[in-house]
Amino acid sequence: MSNSPWEQLAAVSLSAKTGRRPDEYLQAWREGRRLDRPVWRSEIPAAVRRAVEAEGPCVYCGAEASVVDHIKPWARGGTHDLSNLVPSCASCNFSKSDRLLTEWDAARVQRAIGVSVKVAAVYAGLVEAAPPQ
Ligand SMILES: [Zn+2]
Repeated sequence: MSNSPWEQLAAVSLSAKTGRRPDEYLQAWREGRRLDRPVWRSEIPAAVRRAVEAEGPCVYCGAEASVVDHIKPWARGGTHDLSNLVPSCASCNFSKSDRLLTEWDAARVQRAIGVSVKVAAVYAGLVEAAPPQ
């Protein structure tokens, strides 16, 4: 991590993938913190969001979906790629928060694995990386 906000601004222009405005980095630098959480709902491309919303109800509980959930949380290195996004109700999304699948409600995770190949794939990757003890 560089110390100068100007170096960080330069890094931003080189990495449009973050979807952040340069002044967010500057503000964070002034406050002595690092940006590690998503800020804007609009960071998920509209077409991707629509595709996820069309997938159906909340994969975790079956209720009507109202938000898009990052299977691997954005704050933990997950991406806005379609393969990492599933429809979710606000309740499950809030409950899951920044947790990995292996750190959250096992019953809801098991349900999601059964209805979503995307959740199943992410879960398999987590278990492979860190097998349950
Ligand atoms: Zn739900």
